[in-house]
Amino acid sequence: AAGSIRQLDPAIAASRELSFFAYALLTDLGQRLHGEEHDLLKDLGFKTDELARMAATKDDVADFYREVAHKRKSLAFDIDGLVISVNDSELYKKLGVVGKAPRGAVALKFAPEEATTIVENIIVQIGRTGAVTPVAVLRPVRISGVTVSRATLHNMDEIGRLGVNIGDTVIVGRAGDVIPDVREVVKELRTGKEKPFHMPTLCPVCGQSLKKGSGGVLIRCMNKECPARHREALYHFVSKKAFDIDGLGPKTINALLDEGLIQDAADLFSLKEGDLVPLERFGEKSASNLREAIDASRRIPLARFIMALGILHVGEETAIDLAHRFRTTEALKKASLDELTAVPNIGEIVAKSIHAFFRDEHSAALMRKLKHAGVTVVSEKGKTGTKLKGKIFVFTGELKTITRDEAKALVRSLGGTASESVSARTDYVVVGDSPGLKHEQAKKFGVSIMDEKEFLKMAK
Ligand SMILES: [Zn+2]
Repeated sequence: AAGSIRQLDPAIAASRELSFFAYALLTDLGQRLHGEEHDLLKDLGFKTDELARMAATKDDVADFYREVAHKRKSLAFDIDGLVISVNDSELYKKLGVVGKAPRGAVALKFAPEEATTIVENIIVQIGRTGAVTPVAVLRPVRISGVTVSRATLHNMDEIGRLGVNIGDTVIVGRAGDVIPDVREVVKELRTGKEKPFHMPTLCPVCGQSLKKGSGGVLIRCMNKECPARHREALYHFVSKKAFDIDGLGPKTINALLDEGLIQDAADLFSLKEGDLVPLERFGEKSASNLREAIDASRRIPLARFIMALGILHVGEETAIDLAHRFRTTEALKKASLDELTAVPNIGEIVAKSIHAFFRDEHSAALMRKLKHAGVTVVSEKGKTGTKLKGKIFVFTGELKTITRDEAKALVRSLGGTASESVSARTDYVVVGDSPGLKHEQAKKFGVSIMDEKEFLKMAK
């Protein structure tokens, strides 16, 4: 839905037939209760959720939960739970926010949907870091509206815990958009023809021997040139959180690899429209669009570039932390193990992985090739923004991962004010270890109190 709304052409957005229930009214029309917002929205002509209702007690909430769970399948839309919210808007605001989650509302999820089917085979999949994941190939079955034919078995420990064999009847579940998984084996339905699964000792794609990872059960294909790893790494390279190349999904990557049009990520940047047109599902228009999308992605912020490199153990958050600390690719490349470990939230294992990555000839070659292909990494200039605009912060006590001066600078760079004393005008008091009088004053004035972690999350 978000993608449809972002369409620049309103005709396309309109053709998607989106509909929504309005549930919050930001404009002040004198409403004091959340329920009044629903009533006002309805009077204004918005569609509101007819199921929503006021509950006076916890028992009322429990009754309502059971009632909706019961008629859930007959609703015209899929839901995965209820949101219970404090009705008094003033009180809701006062309760504050932990990270992104308001204290005044709580989600009650329904049990995920499940179905019974047969495990026809168990295969292994190789991820971009070489991790080997056993996957159950299922007799296709419908779960909460979609047909499912694969379910992850995570690892050998999980297979042992479930006791699943090839040929078993299993209960498969699917919650939201996540990959379906096997919940339980129905052992009563065994016929005696089931066969146990053995983890292969060789990578099914490149044939090299698989290694036990540092975590114990995790098994990896260590071959950096393994075609399966390579393919997954390319999917990752073009994904939203990395180079974000619009219209370049796994299917197109597969076609480009299979046709020999690319060998690595850097080759993407030298593709010509004429290379793309002959591919299945491509016409002149889509080829030219993709060509333009690839061109546009050449300038990339440092955090997303780090993400794209696919360094083991480095996810989006770590990539952002690294970009803020080192600012340029050059500085990050030269960073010592000690410097890396000193970055908040980066431990020894992650630091070692980053350090090793930038000293590996394979990754150095790729980075040289990307540079040569015209990829420009935009250095991090430090944070500026208006996220904390107009907010007054007071710090008390000792902070752990950041000095008080750094914290204040962060507040200022995001448009807020760092003050020394607490007053009724103070918005937040950030409390560290052994806080002083200011903590007591904050309580007296009813100022929102948060710890260091909550503050850093808010300032992110
Ligand atoms: Zn392999």
